[in-house]
Amino acid sequence: MTGLDVAPGSPFGLDNLPFGVFSPAGGAPRVGIRVGDHVLDLAVLLGDPTFAAPALNPFLARGRGRWVEVREEVTARATEDVPDGAVHAVGDVTLHLPFEVADYVDFYASEHHATNLGRLFRPGAEPLMPNWKHLPVGYHGRAGTVVVSGTDVVRPCGQRMAPGDAAPTFGPSARLDIEAELGFVVGTGSPPGTPIAVEKFAEHVFGTVLVNDWSARDLQAWEYVPLGPHLGKSFATSVSPWVVPLLALEAARVPLPGQEPPPLPYLHETRSWGLDVELVVEWNGEEVSRPPYREMYWSPAQMLAHLTSNGACARTGDLFASGTVSGPGKHQRGAFIELTWGGREPVTVQGEERTFLQDGDTVVISGSAPGAAGGRIGFGQVEGSIRAARPR
Ligand code: MN
Repeated sequence: MTGLDVAPGSPFGLDNLPFGVFSPAGGAPRVGIRVGDHVLDLAVLLGDPTFAAPALNPFLARGRGRWVEVREEVTARATEDVPDGAVHAVGDVTLHLPFEVADYVDFYASEHHATNLGRLFRPGAEPLMPNWKHLPVGYHGRAGTVVVSGTDVVRPCGQRMAPGDAAPTFGPSARLDIEAELGFVVGTGSPPGTPIAVEKFAEHVFGTVLVNDWSARDLQAWEYVPLGPHLGKSFATSVSPWVVPLLALEAARVPLPGQEPPPLPYLHETRSWGLDVELVVEWNGEEVSRPPYREMYWSPAQMLAHLTSNGACARTGDLFASGTVSGPGKHQRGAFIELTWGGREPVTVQGEERTFLQDGDTVVISGSAPGAAGGRIGFGQVEGSIRAARPR
């Protein structure tokens, strides 16, 4: 038995302790916690069979009391008392989708993103729709196509109607894009008919992941009226393998930028908070954007309160994402359609002028936030590469 070596300044220090699902070479998937460059096998370390599972869901369902307890126990034991059989090098394991996604919802909580997209999709009109500052706008996505970082994305085919075309056509998307987002993982749900109040957020939400909501803009532009995103989004959504607990993000809480008009009572928070998470978007290895989560208009607690305000139940494993994170600056835009202004202002990527994704491109989104120890904690990354379409 020994304590674990953790390099000073590691984004995976003891103030982080993100959860994931890993398999050692030849072994079955099980729950682990990342500490430095190690993965701790929790079923072995703690002797709790809940962790000998291929998903976090059974642990999530235990509730906040158990989340706190496990964090305290791992913190205590990681420095002095780890059996060799409970430790793997992160480079020696395979990481999997960390939780079984129950329902998936995607919001649209960045005012900068919503304003940019409004200008691009509805030129000449008021960029924000009349409802936007009264409720966190969102849509129901497709839980079954949420994939873990590293999964290739096949270019989607679909119907599109380019401006000036006489009739719609079907074929591979020519405007494949990303959306850099933060996702929230529901640990304990709520019964039907029982909304989750804003102040109950921390009892229900376990943690956060990085999300890349791949988006086919040409499919989206043609199909989205009047019911919202559908096949332009549902082919794939990538998430990071490590779920950073809310308990690790206390030092990252910041006030919201401000809400005017004040939201209705069911969305009112006495102390509303956002998160100071900085995202970094790399396109084929070159940084193209740094979206700041602290700029988001709606809070995570308001999103969950709104999501359940009609009495819809929440369930263990529900994932709700923030929507594209964009700040006021050009270098802070979390989608290529904004960064290149609809493809009219290409960006330079590894010396080439680029607008939307090409086959073979790789996008890596990483994230970090202030940690309780005074340094920064890491979210790791969500990565995906584009493979050629398979037209029918
Ligand atoms: Mn999105």
